[in-house]
Amino acid sequence: MSLWVYSFGDGKAEGRADMRDLLGGKGANLAEMCNLGLPVPPGFTISTAVCRYFYENERRYPDGLIDEVALALTLVGEATGRNFGDENNPLLVSVRSGARASMPGMMDTVLNLGLNDRTVKALERSADRRFAYDSYRRFIQMYSNVVLGIEHRSFEERLEDFKDERGLASDNDLGGDDWAELTHDYHVIVERELGRAFPQDPNEQLWGAIGAVFASWMSPRAITYRSLNSIPESWGTAVNVQAMVFGNMGDTSATGVAFTRNPSTGENALYGEFLINAQGEDVVAGIRTPQHLTEAARIAAGAEAPSLEAAMPKVFARFKKVCTMLERHYRDMQDIEFTIENGKLWMLQTRNGKRTVPAALKIATDLADEGLLTRDEAILRIKPLSLDQLLHPTIASSAARDVIATGLPASPGAASGEIVFTPEDAATLKGQGHKVILVRTETSPEDIHGMHAAEGILTARGGMTSHAAVVARGMGKPCVSGAGSLRIDVQAEMMVAGGRTFGKGEVITIDGSTGQVLAGAVAMQQPELSGDFTKLMEWADKTRRMRVRANAETPADARAARSFGAEGIGLCRTEHMFFDADRIVAVREMILADTLDGRRAALAKLLPMQRADFAELFEIMAGLPVTIRLLDPPLHEFLPKSEEEIAEVAKAMNVEPQRLRERTLALHEFNPMLGHRGVRLAISYPEIAEMQARAIFEAALDAALKTNAPVIPEIMVPLVMVKGELDRVKALIDRTADAIALERGTRPAYTVGTMIELPRAALRARELAATAEFFSFGTNDLTQTTFGLSRDDAAAFLGDYIREGIIEVDPFVSIDREGVGELIRRAAERGRHARPGIKLGICGEHGGDPASIAFCERVGLDYVSCSPFRVPIARLAAAQAAINQRASTEQPET
Ligand code: ADP
Ligand code: MG
Ligand code: MG
Repeated sequence: MSLWVYSFGDGKAEGRADMRDLLGGKGANLAEMCNLGLPVPPGFTISTAVCRYFYENERRYPDGLIDEVALALTLVGEATGRNFGDENNPLLVSVRSGARASMPGMMDTVLNLGLNDRTVKALERSADRRFAYDSYRRFIQMYSNVVLGIEHRSFEERLEDFKDERGLASDNDLGGDDWAELTHDYHVIVERELGRAFPQDPNEQLWGAIGAVFASWMSPRAITYRSLNSIPESWGTAVNVQAMVFGNMGDTSATGVAFTRNPSTGENALYGEFLINAQGEDVVAGIRTPQHLTEAARIAAGAEAPSLEAAMPKVFARFKKVCTMLERHYRDMQDIEFTIENGKLWMLQTRNGKRTVPAALKIATDLADEGLLTRDEAILRIKPLSLDQLLHPTIASSAARDVIATGLPASPGAASGEIVFTPEDAATLKGQGHKVILVRTETSPEDIHGMHAAEGILTARGGMTSHAAVVARGMGKPCVSGAGSLRIDVQAEMMVAGGRTFGKGEVITIDGSTGQVLAGAVAMQQPELSGDFTKLMEWADKTRRMRVRANAETPADARAARSFGAEGIGLCRTEHMFFDADRIVAVREMILADTLDGRRAALAKLLPMQRADFAELFEIMAGLPVTIRLLDPPLHEFLPKSEEEIAEVAKAMNVEPQRLRERTLALHEFNPMLGHRGVRLAISYPEIAEMQARAIFEAALDAALKTNAPVIPEIMVPLVMVKGELDRVKALIDRTADAIALERGTRPAYTVGTMIELPRAALRARELAATAEFFSFGTNDLTQTTFGLSRDDAAAFLGDYIREGIIEVDPFVSIDREGVGELIRRAAERGRHARPGIKLGICGEHGGDPASIAFCERVGLDYVSCSPFRVPIARLAAAQAAINQRASTEQPET
């Protein structure tokens, strides 16, 4: 039994799908496919443990590895009836990297390894000269690039010249003698670049390639990718060595890629591309136009070249069966690589396919409807934050389209931006606040940071499975790929499209749903949420325990919140209502008034406006709970700041500018966070709170008459630090309600509660709960007061601290760990102790953050409240939290 190497082939394997930590995703799934009895070329996986050992021991291999590899290679030889390095019957292998998580394009695979000037002759004898030297030249180029560090360009230029000299248009026009001649030229190139010959010893080749895979784990490309995707360095990569099968053996051979369902739409239809007489990455490299797998897809695309279904019906039927089997086995849509060698199907890779968010929703709900998943499993399949992408705009149907090119609809959504031709320009301009579209001939992993910075990606070459398409779909960015008519000149920073020239900085729009490229910016529209979305959200709503409310103060926000499924308003910040141009004057009069009567006069002007605000919100919410927070910010925030503004306001209000200045100075707070604000405003100026309470009550009674759905407003007193404050304000609110009862003959129903924003309030929750009928955790200020830093500063510092190793976990993100979360937990416990059944909720940014929502579920809060656009995310996250919580009830939290 070997320690470092796991063999597979011939219907059995030492590995399994659940061993991906040790074997990497590719290795684990190759083993699994073998165990399923699928046709997989035999091979072996050198485990990720070797990679860890390698980097912990000054880049040395563990003892015994060399023998284990030699033994495993012998087994592959036995299974194939060939021998590595044999001059008559050589075994050729591929050397493929493969980490635990898929890291697209980290290291290019080396194919046809084991070829040299002698074994190539055996290949020629067993098949033909064209195939033999086509394979050899590919090997020299790939190996020289990946292992010896010679640029592809050196070889590609020679190939282009060769074709030009002979008037040959495509690679397929080259015959055996041509490739043999080129192979010779390639050898010369290697000698010239390297000062020594291309390695002829297959063992040297093999260990060179294995070493290159391990070295690639520390390449700058890999390091960037890991940091962007939070992949720990300690995972390491595995190396897969596998017997070659040949898709380039002639017209009964082919290579292809497939998704078992459409990765753009989720439609349950086999989707993919293939090329006859081709090898490896030919399909995705965009050298030739790939053909469709199915007749249906070919017809839909209006393509002429035959589909696999038509060209090789028997292999196709077999392949389709394999796809169905893999999908049922993995219970998910699969992304598959295959090769056909002389009419025989070989499986080279399978993994859960990347997909767009709409596709993810469709696939998850379809799989549940097909009985492959439970509804809970379907709910857990969707990343809550990914729903954000559904809110991507598309081009308005009424907009005029000035189409300058058409490519493939590679990743849905539309985006406008300034043209940039390099990833560096994309990042720089984005940093300066510009929106950019990255325009490339094709993309590669080096472009990732530019793709991140861009609003969308446009390429001239490459299919639906090209690097640009796959990465853009993963990022949720619009992408148009393979717009073949584009002429891009990176040097001159120009592109020609539709006979017109566009320079860097000119605005274009891409439509990733149709493949169109348009000149200029175009009107966009918000998408309609699909039936699959609605279905999954219904399932989520049924399964979750916590309610989801929205933070909203304007009618537009409240309507948006309801359309996204909010079940009430968790935070209505009344100060926002004071900033309106027609009200700020009355607010300022109120602030400047020296006497109570003066203030009351100004407040009387505000009352009808506030009442109208609340009435509209209550009507929209039609009986759903609404939490209204009394005025919170320090008053100086309402006064003008610049001298110009002061002069203008003074004139309008008919007061001396000096008076305004003095008042602003008197109200100014050095620490606006912790001063004369929140409940303390209501203590100093009870008439403000009284006016607000009256507006709330009158509006509630009016709205109830109108909608026939009585609203029970929840009046929230902000920033309470001692119980006496809350008692005083509650008494004022109660008195106001009594007054209304006398005037109207009906006493409004309402509750009074407080926002827990100060550590002291959290710790004294038992006391506060004697008065408060509900708590809402204001986690923005609670974070700020707990850390002594603003929310953004805390996030920034803690991020740095983690990178520098000063702390391990981010107590800000995982709010359950310490600090803020601990305060919430204690306050919830103490509040419940004093008032069983006290209503508990959270508002602030954390209310829309899936990790924090999971924490709220564990603490048993009644609801979360977040911004309207986050409501779907919170609904799904709350459902996942409930499912996970139910699953972990055997192991309750400590
Ligand atoms: P990546 O992770 O970049 O997809 P792979 O190793 O999966 O790298 O693939 C590179 C290409 O080479 C793919 O098209 C794959 O199907 C092909 N390939 C890999 N191993 C073999 C093999 N043993 N025989 C034939 N083709 C192979
Ligand atoms: Mg692959
Ligand atoms: Mg606050």
